[in-house]
Amino acid sequence: MEFECLARDGDARLGRLRFARGSVETPAFMPVGTYGSVKGLDCADLLASGSQMILGNTLHLALRPGVEVISRFGGLHAFMGWSGPILTDSGGFQVMSLASLRTIDDDGVTFRAPVDGRLFRLTPERAIAIQEALGSDVLMVLDHCPPYPATAGEIEASIARSTLWAARSCGAHGEGSGALFGIVQGGVDIPSRLRSFEALKPMAFAGFAIGGLAVGEPARERLAVLDALKTVLPPDRPRYLMGVGKPADLVAAIMRGVDLFDCVLPTRNGRNAHLFTTRGILRLRNARYRSDENPIDADCPCLACRRLSRAYLHHLDRVGDPLALRLLSLHNLTYYQMLLGRVRQAIREGRLVSLAKDFEALEEST
Ligand SMILES: [Zn+2]
Repeated sequence: MEFECLARDGDARLGRLRFARGSVETPAFMPVGTYGSVKGLDCADLLASGSQMILGNTLHLALRPGVEVISRFGGLHAFMGWSGPILTDSGGFQVMSLASLRTIDDDGVTFRAPVDGRLFRLTPERAIAIQEALGSDVLMVLDHCPPYPATAGEIEASIARSTLWAARSCGAHGEGSGALFGIVQGGVDIPSRLRSFEALKPMAFAGFAIGGLAVGEPARERLAVLDALKTVLPPDRPRYLMGVGKPADLVAAIMRGVDLFDCVLPTRNGRNAHLFTTRGILRLRNARYRSDENPIDADCPCLACRRLSRAYLHHLDRVGDPLALRLLSLHNLTYYQMLLGRVRQAIREGRLVSLAKDFEALEEST
């Protein structure tokens, strides 16, 4: 993987990530393909939405269908029919969110799989081996994400363990495999964040992720962390904010130098008929759309907006047709990718501040 910064506007960066499987223009948003599919959407839909790169959940895929099945296909790309780059998480965050079912020690974590109750052991080395077998273009180190809110002791323990695991992940990472990213932890405590980054800095990471956010903290605390990290993260490497978030959160993070995002929000909200549009939020389940002949968003190029009315989509959702899940997810994902496209254009033209102001005004009005 190579990263090139093409333009700057304040702290925001317009960049290009080059992989053997193609280039990704940044800032970029990755839809989440938990089980090797972005729920309800096939790869042609993903391309049509403007998605350039997707995220796969290592732990979910290791449990179902299992690495041995995906390996038989030569990796996740061939298994799911996606030819663009794939980033996989390490499974750490998923394991930590199964708090009642796991035991954690300095060597790794053991947990009972929620699917079938079998015991599963994840170590830094195992997380890398699974991601290499999946054929990921970007691999993440196994980390220990503290809870929110966390005590100083919990944050300290999480940094110590994450640093140890990051070093072991580097040792396990094979030369021929994808790019490896380190993950900065430290909760919302700025000195802890800086200490976590300093510990990771000497390791050979191709990029840095900011983990442990989007776990319920107020936006101002999250932005303070980004403000502190933007001055120390190496400018020649990509920065990935994990699990964030709402459109306004993305814009605010981009203005603080973040290049990569992933979140389930556009597809999850799409399935609940909660739609993002260039005129604000539209809740399609509202009875007022029962006979509305307009498209969801006249400025959206997605299949649903080009061909269908709000009334028809409202009806599909009401009768529980799976087509509603697909079309509404596709619309929301297209909205996210359009927004990122507008942001990239604004950075290129040095007018991101003005785009962000218009965007804030829209958010407040809806
Ligand atoms: Zn649309």
